[in-house]
Amino acid sequence: MKIILRREDYNRMYEHAKANVPEEACGLIAGKELEDGTRKITKVYLLENIDHSNEHFSIDPKEHLAAIKNMRANGLLPFGNWHSHPETPSRPSEEDKRLANDSRATYMIFSLEHEDEPVLNAFHIEGNDGERTVRKEELEII
Ligand SMILES: [Zn+2]
Repeated sequence: MKIILRREDYNRMYEHAKANVPEEACGLIAGKELEDGTRKITKVYLLENIDHSNEHFSIDPKEHLAAIKNMRANGLLPFGNWHSHPETPSRPSEEDKRLANDSRATYMIFSLEHEDEPVLNAFHIEGNDGERTVRKEELEII
């Protein structure tokens, strides 16, 4: 599945991720599905990581609920979530895989491992607890 993200939203994610270093930053992504199934992200939510950790994140449940209501009010589809990896590469950790319970979701990871070379990737994760399959999605920044 292809994902489209606007440059301005990429920049907002990047700023939010940088502002939260050394902790992971997190949020939600929403938008519209194009006829060919491509997911066009038209709204990125920058939310609080209530774990305040450099290797975990939990989205504030109140902010999560408010974001879902905002998506409904604006006719947007919830696509999944995003979080940053301040010190590690842009790929799901073992814990990320374990917590990825929604095979329809897009999981985005913004790595700040190399300060001058941020990396954003989108993933599809499926399978049961014992064995999760991770696939990198095609991501286009426009
Ligand atoms: Zn992670």
